[in-house]
Amino acid sequence: MATALIIEQLKETFKSGDRDSVQTLILQQFQLSKYPFIYLLDLIDQTHEYSSYNGTLSNFILHTFSRWQDEFYKVYQTLFDSHTQNRIFFLLVQAPVTSLDIIIKIFHIENDYIVHCIKSQLLCQDIKYNNHNIKNAVKIISHLKIQNYFTVREIILPLIINNRDHLIELYLSEDKEQQKLFFQTLDHLCYHKGNMKDILMNDYHIPSNIVALLNKRQIVKLAVRYLNIYAIDNVDQYPNLSILQRKRTLGYLINVKYSQDKTMSEDCWNELVQEIVENNIALSDCLIEMLCDRDDLNAVKYWMIKLERSQQSLSHWVQKYLYTKPQNTVEQTSSNSTLTIDYYKLSIPINKIYFVDNTENYNRLLDKLWSSNDLIIGFDCEWKPMFNNSRTSKQRISIMQLAFQDEIYLLDLLNYFHTCNETQLMEKLANRLFDDENVTLVCYSFQSDARMLIASYPIFEKALVSSSTLLDMSIVQNDLLRENSSIFPYLSNNNNNNSNNTKEKGLSELIKLIFGQPVYKGEQCSNWEQRPLRLAQILYASIDAACLLDAYNFFVKQSLSPDFLRSYRGRKPKRLQANITRQIDENYTNNQILQTEPRQENLSINQNDTVSSLRPSQVKFVADNMLHGLGRELRVCGCDCIILDDDAAHTDAIKYAKADNRIILSRGGPYNLLRSNTVEGRCYCPPDLSAKKQCENVINHFNIKVLPEDIFSRCTICNGDEFDIVDGKEIRALFYKHYNYKPEDTDEPELLNYSSQIIDMNQMKLIKTGVTLILTGLTSRNLPSYSEYYICIKCGRVYWQGTHWRRRRLKHIEILHDNEDDDMIQFVDDSKEEYFDAMENTQT
Ligand SMILES: [Zn+2]
Repeated sequence: MATALIIEQLKETFKSGDRDSVQTLILQQFQLSKYPFIYLLDLIDQTHEYSSYNGTLSNFILHTFSRWQDEFYKVYQTLFDSHTQNRIFFLLVQAPVTSLDIIIKIFHIENDYIVHCIKSQLLCQDIKYNNHNIKNAVKIISHLKIQNYFTVREIILPLIINNRDHLIELYLSEDKEQQKLFFQTLDHLCYHKGNMKDILMNDYHIPSNIVALLNKRQIVKLAVRYLNIYAIDNVDQYPNLSILQRKRTLGYLINVKYSQDKTMSEDCWNELVQEIVENNIALSDCLIEMLCDRDDLNAVKYWMIKLERSQQSLSHWVQKYLYTKPQNTVEQTSSNSTLTIDYYKLSIPINKIYFVDNTENYNRLLDKLWSSNDLIIGFDCEWKPMFNNSRTSKQRISIMQLAFQDEIYLLDLLNYFHTCNETQLMEKLANRLFDDENVTLVCYSFQSDARMLIASYPIFEKALVSSSTLLDMSIVQNDLLRENSSIFPYLSNNNNNNSNNTKEKGLSELIKLIFGQPVYKGEQCSNWEQRPLRLAQILYASIDAACLLDAYNFFVKQSLSPDFLRSYRGRKPKRLQANITRQIDENYTNNQILQTEPRQENLSINQNDTVSSLRPSQVKFVADNMLHGLGRELRVCGCDCIILDDDAAHTDAIKYAKADNRIILSRGGPYNLLRSNTVEGRCYCPPDLSAKKQCENVINHFNIKVLPEDIFSRCTICNGDEFDIVDGKEIRALFYKHYNYKPEDTDEPELLNYSSQIIDMNQMKLIKTGVTLILTGLTSRNLPSYSEYYICIKCGRVYWQGTHWRRRRLKHIEILHDNEDDDMIQFVDDSKEEYFDAMENTQT
């Protein structure tokens, strides 16, 4: 039959879902074919599937061929002519990632050959790559992990120049060596004294016409972004990138300094800039030039002295600027504007502010904290800003402020509490502050504080999950503005006309509404890690906490009943819960990384293998009753998983967790409840996906390595892992008995009166354990096919190893080891029904 006709027939049958017939048809064709390899290529060509990247039928054909090759053909390596070789490579290039391995296996293609073909057919010298080619090259290279066969100029540089974001990530994924090369290349391109175009032409031999088209800004942006994506700790190993990053920060700070509303004090600004510039000449040049740009002669002179720069050492145009600017026109204009605004002042004398970085003050604080059974405390935290890195994991809370009626305590978390090893004391403190019925903590928009607290000091996790002491003034403020705004003495009706009123935001706005004066924010972004803190910083920190208590007292005095404020206690602002759980998850992941990642700089390339993974037998779960599907999937993978009954209480999960050291899986409200009662990291909320994808997620999250022998090693119905293997005739005899077969109904009439040592034929029970067998899914059609059956000795469910069992085993392994690949997941979903049934026994 002509190939085209065959394909038509295959497509029809494939669509109807009858995989067995498709398989039979394909196998016949291979058997008849004189040149099966060529015939296979023809078949795949004719499907025309790979042009649209949907290779479902092709994939099926390839797998069928491979099985046939293994079982009957047994020919692996042949000498193909160059035309056929080209066809094979073309197939590889076109195929979705999911089919690469099987194609390589069938045609026995060596890495060297693939590398050769990629270099000669997909890559080219002038670096202006065809999008399709470079994409296919990266797809194959990263899948086979053969990056080290290629030079920077062949792949990395073109990807940078062409700004191919997702390809860069695919290419560099998990390969520390390539990441290093990537950053080295960027660092070289961004040489701070050099011209990027010259570097490309001279050092990388990129033709000048290509270089001319280049967007330098884009490359710089790319560099900055990737430093963040890969969270490069030590940017100093790439000196040019480090300068680049710090120049951007300087630019940002310059904008802050000369913006309309001065949000940063002079001292604070100077400190930050000093730290960024350090003694780097390039950066000090950059700073001085930026200041000249703003025509701020005072600042230029100040920094020239501070950075010890002589006029002669500066660039020509700066020298010219200094020369032409008339000296005597300079006026003292700066910093006056801040004095004209009347800011909110501290009502507690300065000698009542205690900086807690020693035992004496710490004990004083403890006395204070337990001095009364009705404590109202103003609360706030400060940390040093990070301009380059958005990752909270690198930031630390430095100061925590507690304002009482007559005293203020500034806790030096960074230095004193961090070194203080008394975890019990810390825990006691955490519980008193965040989870104690005698304490009310008056705070403002606690969400970010909470996240940062947990990131810095995981010991706060448990108390913060409860957060029962919180009284968040931002909620009170919103409600009152909406429902009872007349309570604010300084709420002016002409808000829109008066720009001074609209400028304040958040806490400062609240204080202004109550007391008529805003809170000075100039020190907010200052260097909170320096010791000693400046007086301005100490005052700022104190006011931030104390004004909250003042606001609280104001509302009490306004005869808002105590119950009114109390009703806000424990009410969580938006996103607080989400922030807390997200950060706890992040802590958990970071911990995992710390524990499993070798501390050396050079990680081996096979990173996946060095991370210590768990076997399914080493981990136990209990799934909450909304996660039935997930629980069953985990059992398929061989994981011990208890599934809560529909009418069970969610808290039953805790009992199982404690009894057996199980990890709890739950979602939504119950998850929050369960998590707060569990040790960190032992309660997990899988994403809202299909059961199968949730299972993949859980397997990955806990780094469980599932091997073929694990699949179906557990009963999905009852979680049992002990099976009795019985001969096929035992089950057939039972089946005949059960359905009252007559001798003429079967080829095995002798089985109608079969007496078994294992099964009680009359009662349908396993003699050994007395459990009743469940035959669901067995039919007269599939019955004769199997020579043995598996009986779960706990619940009596009968299983058999159908083709689906095998196929599912295969699929499962593929998903679990290659799940970052979208194509693969897509494919598996497409053909879901075909391998789902063996265990569910839905065959007919
Ligand atoms: Zn069972």
